[in-house]
Amino acid sequence: MWLAVTFWYIALAVLAIWITVRVVRHVRMKRYFSGEVFQAHLKELSSVVTEHNEIAAYAAEIRAGGQFGLGTSGTGSRSSLATFENTSRHDYRRDRNVAHYQALNVHNCSLQVVRNASADPLKYLIKYFGVEATEEGLAQVEKLGETISRLENAVNNLKRREADITGEFNPPKFILKHYEKQFTERVGVNLSPISVPCPEYVFEYVSAGGNSSQRTTVKLNTPTIDGLIEALSERIRRRRSAAGQRALMTARFREEIKRRDDYTCRYCSVSLDDEPHLLLEVDHIVPVSRGGLSTEDNLQTLCWRCNRSKSNKMIDA
Ligand SMILES: [Zn+2]
Repeated sequence: MWLAVTFWYIALAVLAIWITVRVVRHVRMKRYFSGEVFQAHLKELSSVVTEHNEIAAYAAEIRAGGQFGLGTSGTGSRSSLATFENTSRHDYRRDRNVAHYQALNVHNCSLQVVRNASADPLKYLIKYFGVEATEEGLAQVEKLGETISRLENAVNNLKRREADITGEFNPPKFILKHYEKQFTERVGVNLSPISVPCPEYVFEYVSAGGNSSQRTTVKLNTPTIDGLIEALSERIRRRRSAAGQRALMTARFREEIKRRDDYTCRYCSVSLDDEPHLLLEVDHIVPVSRGGLSTEDNLQTLCWRCNRSKSNKMIDA
């Protein structure tokens, strides 16, 4: 009898403490957000937050307007012409039929090819996904590399800005721990859900019985793309001794152009010295679509604002 009563007392006490902790925390949260310190920061940083949100919108534009693919696998290129059905009577857990026969980014092949592809991914990517070792093929890979690196730069720039904004507010620990969502809402930062959609190419082997399968995945991120650019240019050069002497649009080359221009926008002269979080991009003065080349004298450093208004003008023109 006494034991039962004691148990209920303890249970009630625990519940009361639990509720009190939450109520107190809630009151502290309300007080923090309406407090002078928070409100002062909000005023002081409003332009910083606005610029962050503009770049978030810009990143969304790059994402929406970009092409994020290269060649396709021969094993899936005509797949839209057929209907595929698994009519086996056995309920195999791992069926050969689960192989991705119809996916354009998956090459179904022998075990040997899967293994070779993991040892020499660039060579096998070129060979089995129809990436052509021609000037056009190279230009296509360079374009993909530029789009991915522009998006990567913008996304990383946003992350640094977000960290900085949070640092400036320097909210109490319990705010970040329990009210992170409310914090970003009150600050007005539109967190960008954008990730960089680097294409992935897969070499896949599934055994006849479906009991064993192996795959090699090649992710086309900046290092892979730069490697691919160099491999393609090497092949082109070998075939035509004099041709293909121009600079390659790799991440390193883009960085060289920015360094040459002192990390300064050639239009509005804003520089990394003025704004440590300045988002700078490398622009073709005469665009590739109008015959411009990726040569040093046709490349310039622009800030994202000038680059955006330049490309908007180009579209209108
Ligand atoms: Zn500018």
